[in-house]
Amino acid sequence: MFEHLPVPYGLARYGVAPDHPEVKRCTDTLENLARESSGNFHFVGNCPIGDGPEELPLTAITSQFDGLLFAYGASKDKRLHIPGEDLNGVVSARAFVGWYNGLPEYADLDVDLTAGDTAVVIGQGNVALDVTRTLLAPLEELRKTDINEETVEALSRSQVREVKVIGRRGPLQGPYTIKELRELMHLPNVGFASPPEGWEDLLQVPRKKLPRQLKRIAELLEKGSTTPLESSEKAWQLGFLRSPTAFLSEGGEKLKAVGFEKTEYARPLTDLLTGEPQSDLNALRAAKVQSTGQKGLIHTNLAFRSVGYQSEPLAGMQEIGVPFDVAKGIIPNDRWGRVLSPSLGVGGSASELTAGHVPGMYCAGWVKRGPTGVIASTMDDAFLTADVLAGDWEQHALFLDGGGGENESTSVGRAGYEGVVQEIRRRGIRSVSWKEWEKVDAEEKNGRRFDEYLRCFDSWTHEGCRYCSTAGTVDLHTHDDCSEASKPAFWQQHFHLDCP
Ligand code: NAP
Repeated sequence: MFEHLPVPYGLARYGVAPDHPEVKRCTDTLENLARESSGNFHFVGNCPIGDGPEELPLTAITSQFDGLLFAYGASKDKRLHIPGEDLNGVVSARAFVGWYNGLPEYADLDVDLTAGDTAVVIGQGNVALDVTRTLLAPLEELRKTDINEETVEALSRSQVREVKVIGRRGPLQGPYTIKELRELMHLPNVGFASPPEGWEDLLQVPRKKLPRQLKRIAELLEKGSTTPLESSEKAWQLGFLRSPTAFLSEGGEKLKAVGFEKTEYARPLTDLLTGEPQSDLNALRAAKVQSTGQKGLIHTNLAFRSVGYQSEPLAGMQEIGVPFDVAKGIIPNDRWGRVLSPSLGVGGSASELTAGHVPGMYCAGWVKRGPTGVIASTMDDAFLTADVLAGDWEQHALFLDGGGGENESTSVGRAGYEGVVQEIRRRGIRSVSWKEWEKVDAEEKNGRRFDEYLRCFDSWTHEGCRYCSTAGTVDLHTHDDCSEASKPAFWQQHFHLDCP
């Protein structure tokens, strides 16, 4: 398992809200596997894939293994491509989530929570609700979680009292899930402001005609929060049928307002109903909107862009015959996880391999299906791909370089992990093994701040430590150690993380 960060778990560690620790338990599956693998599982952390210095090219992997599975998710957030998107005060929700989860990439994110009392979140998915909850949740609750301490510090100074979560479609089309809506409705001292249009105009469909799932959402929204708005300290609101057109400023630097265009349903929602629950659910969820030409403004100094994530191709994919569909943001596949090359023809069913499959190449998760679905559905998808891969192997399907699955002799000469580890060393990559991660994990469970170590680790591997003056190759040490350079480096001492 190759991972560009020094630690495993990607989105589970850095994308799940800190107040959802139960969701993070999905990591148990990998932990159990590592424990039971009797040496057949290798974690190679801090090993970016690419063509640059201190990166591992994909060809170094394909020359040593029989198969390759891409499960690297969606590393970018979608942009709106409207004027003012880079103004000071417009924040990517992905960056904000990364920051409060201690993702090193966003350690220095500058979010000014003191500039005004209203924040706007654009998009109504679960990420938008995670951001809203974090902005409004009582600090004493957040402090009980493993949230980044700098974020708690910034939140303690926050002036934000109201969060408006804006969607371009209506309440029945919002991608939020019931659990996340309910959580916000139950936040202590946080009220819910109904949208100005009123629920009848927005929902359009008589409640008893709604499919069960949408009926529950409608009831939840109409009922509102457990704290009455009048007596609440803070509030949130869902705004519907508003499509963002621009982020506005005075003087071109700081955000002052978000401009919207009002939208309306392209067809009355009642026209979409057939009486068959599943078809009604699909039709109502997919209902389209069109612009009314009517413009509006929300004054704010802080806006979050939360309109979904996006996968990107890895450097060198083309070279190893793996295509990437830029428009869909996925690796083309046959739904079962086998990578498909359009030039080789079309793929087939779960048990059938066709000329379209790129031998030995598989994908799972968001890079296979697009960035939708909760972690449980992504896990199901990963299990499916793994079953299909194992099935292909047992049936002697073609793998990399013509290798033919189980018991075939063509994979002789492929050294697997041992072959790659030499290349990793040759390239000066300081990789992190599972054993090392376990030590770090144990320290974290004792309350150590691993993100500080990560920052130093990052500088150690690249340009020396930027927190103290030590240049070049320095021992791994924590931020705290920087002030006393002569002190034995903390991580070196505790974890014996030696040079490769
Ligand atoms: P998402 O669920 O796809 O929501 C994206 C939102 O952005 C939608 O409201 C969408 O509106 C809107 N949007 C997209 N393009 C837009 C544009 N150009 N202008 C205005 N609005 C636009 O994405 P997400 O919130 O990033 O979540 C990603 C996945 O992770 C989801 O499956 C989510 O459930 C999951 N997740 C789960 C949890 C959890 O279980 N607690 C937490 C976080 C994330 P339209 O619907 O009109 O396109």
